[in-house]
Amino acid sequence: MGDALPQIDPQRQSEVARALRQFMPERAVLWQEEDTRPYECDGLTAYRRVPMVVALPETEAQVRRVLQTCHALGVPVVPRGAGTGLSGGALPAGDGVLLSLAKFMRVLRVDPLARIAVVQPGVRNAAISDVAAPFGLYYAPDPSSQIACSIGGNVAENSGGVHCLKYGLTVHNVLRVKGYTIEGEPVDFGSESLDAPGYDLLALVIGSEGLLAVTTEITVRLLPKPESARVVMASFDDVEKAGDAVAAVIAAGIVPAGLEMMDQPATHAVEQFMHAGYDLEAAAILLCESDGGAEEVAEEIAKVREVLAAAGATRMTVSRDEAERLRFWSGRKAAFPAMGRISPDYYCMDGTIPRKRLGEVLNFIGAMEKKYGLRCPNVFHAGDGNLHPLILFDANDPEQLQRTEAFAAEVLEKCVAVGGTITGEHGVGVEKIDQMCVQFRTAELEMFHAIKQAYDPKGLLNPGKAVPALARCAEFGRRHVRAGGSSHPELPRF
Ligand SMILES: Cc1cc2nc3c(=O)[nH]c(=O)nc-3n(C[C@H](O)[C@H](O)[C@H](O)COP(=O)(O)OP(=O)(O)OC[C@H]3O[C@@H](n4cnc5c(N)ncnc54)[C@H](O)[C@@H]3O)c2cc1C
Repeated sequence: MGDALPQIDPQRQSEVARALRQFMPERAVLWQEEDTRPYECDGLTAYRRVPMVVALPETEAQVRRVLQTCHALGVPVVPRGAGTGLSGGALPAGDGVLLSLAKFMRVLRVDPLARIAVVQPGVRNAAISDVAAPFGLYYAPDPSSQIACSIGGNVAENSGGVHCLKYGLTVHNVLRVKGYTIEGEPVDFGSESLDAPGYDLLALVIGSEGLLAVTTEITVRLLPKPESARVVMASFDDVEKAGDAVAAVIAAGIVPAGLEMMDQPATHAVEQFMHAGYDLEAAAILLCESDGGAEEVAEEIAKVREVLAAAGATRMTVSRDEAERLRFWSGRKAAFPAMGRISPDYYCMDGTIPRKRLGEVLNFIGAMEKKYGLRCPNVFHAGDGNLHPLILFDANDPEQLQRTEAFAAEVLEKCVAVGGTITGEHGVGVEKIDQMCVQFRTAELEMFHAIKQAYDPKGLLNPGKAVPALARCAEFGRRHVRAGGSSHPELPRF
């Protein structure tokens, strides 16, 4: 363990636990360290903090009362879904309540005529498609973590996935979100129709990282399952060429169902693990999927092959059947866990850049690997220009973690410099909070604070995440000039 953890105040802990037990059973209020420690981090395991109390409500009335109680007592609340987030969004507050929505796992309604499903926030992403499947429908956004992550987390992060290039992110596939503010006031954003009057607060709450409201009910759009799908796997002898090929596919007017890229270090790590059939000689591979009617797919695949050949593909294989298509994707979907086999820890970045700058940014990442002496396989949603460089490091070595943070900061800032953003789908959380100071001007950050203030005047809901205090940005500016890197000195590390 790195920095000393702040001690939990036992008097405050028992006061809060007692208050919550007034309306929740004993099993739903955890405060003993052996029970609360499993909640100390999310998928960003480099930062850990044991929560003071964990609340596991089972009804909306209980969620509301947890919020009202914490608001009255001035206790911070951190909502949590499945805890797979990669930016530390569900990192607990040491003096606060971790509000788990894990027990909200019911599918409330599937309406195949309206093509919608109404679900509770703890429902797993993949479970929505499972319940829709008997009607020939599915839920399109498909994060690689879809077997584990919750729809509540997806809404909070505006999550994406392989098929979001064609079908949109969470924000394009959610019609309505209901929940409660920190004061326990009910809120209801959007509707089952396509438009609603007033400001688009649905779009505001989607991607708000649990800072504005706690979600308790979500209405998602369902799509008809495409009749068929095939994927082209193309090899390139040069990473920059593969990056340029991605831009060429889109420039040719093709909108593939998915367009993903993996470099050689990534394919090597994955192949040992998943045996997906990747070309291990290639400097990079592209996976380009087409879906729709069988004829439409055949036509698009022919066009894709033509463009990729002209862009310098050295080898191409088209999936022959559904089993092979799923095998090609299995490697990509298991790319993050595969890193666990070759390194004690990995740090997954999530910058987005204009597609035409892919080659340039990949070369920059290569230069950073040398500068910081750390390996960094690349896996990404190339069609969206959404990079996921995976820095390999050992979190037990504080010096390595510091180098990793500085590496990540330089890459994210490069994304901003080439006209991109510091996050494509994983959110800001605690991980990228300093880079928000690079991405946005003071006036813009002031607007974010004004919105937060409107929903949560006391700043109790998920404090310290996503939107940096202006003083933090001023301090970061000074640190940045002196040290040229970023770290989170205030965060307890593994
Ligand atoms: C192996 C792996 C692969 C991944 N691949 C992808 C990918 O392809 N695309 C992608 O977008 N992400 C990906 N992720 C990241 C992660 O799975 C997503 O961000 C996911 O949406 C998080 O969902 P969760 O239920 O785990 O949320 P958590 O991690 O529990 O929480 C995430 C955020 O949501 C807030 N939150 C959770 N529930 C609620 C609620 N009910 N109300 C209000 N706020 C809430 C939390 O406070 C936190 O800020 C991946 C993660 C892993 C580990």
